[in-house]
Amino acid sequence: MPNSRRTPTARLDPRGPLVFDTRTLPRRPGSARTETRTVPAPADLHTGMAGIPEGSDLRLDVTLESVTEGVLATVTAVAPVTGECARCLEPVTQMIEVRCQELFSYEQGGGDADEDGYALDGDLLDLEPVLRDALVLALPLAPLCRQDCPGLCAECGALLAQAGSEHGHDSAIDPRWAGLRQQVTQGEPVGRPAPEIREESGRGRP
Ligand SMILES: [Zn+2]
Ligand SMILES: [Zn+2]
Repeated sequence: MPNSRRTPTARLDPRGPLVFDTRTLPRRPGSARTETRTVPAPADLHTGMAGIPEGSDLRLDVTLESVTEGVLATVTAVAPVTGECARCLEPVTQMIEVRCQELFSYEQGGGDADEDGYALDGDLLDLEPVLRDALVLALPLAPLCRQDCPGLCAECGALLAQAGSEHGHDSAIDPRWAGLRQQVTQGEPVGRPAPEIREESGRGRP
């Protein structure tokens, strides 16, 4: 956690895209301010199969509200996600929206008052760690190019969405068994229709 130690030498950069200044927010419980920003997405927002491309547009709606202990930040973020379809491996692009809320407590004496939570750094607060957690949690574990993606042919790897529903193979038999299969089919009466039984009556019965 880059933010867990708050030493005077590690002050936030007020120009940071995810740093918010609370100076214009009166420190009176109930005061609130809303800000909308579009910022470049930070790096390393991804899981195994999906991620938010670094630098892509992250749309933020941020409400900062004065409460007794500090500033409560409520954030709605909309971000593009790219990845691979879990079934057919084709590229997938979709949007995700997350909402998160975090309290940034006022700095107290030593600064490390609350190790587990977040604190204001002077008048500044950094939403990056909060957003990072919320966005990564919201990433789809198994993205799909469409809900009914038929995936790949288990035998030849063809894209079933393109190959069509008729796509299939005569057999799903392992090549190593092909010889055996031939023997079996040779033993069957191929192409000779089974004898029909017609006469139910009329013959026999003297
Ligand atoms: Zn797919
Ligand atoms: Zn196939």
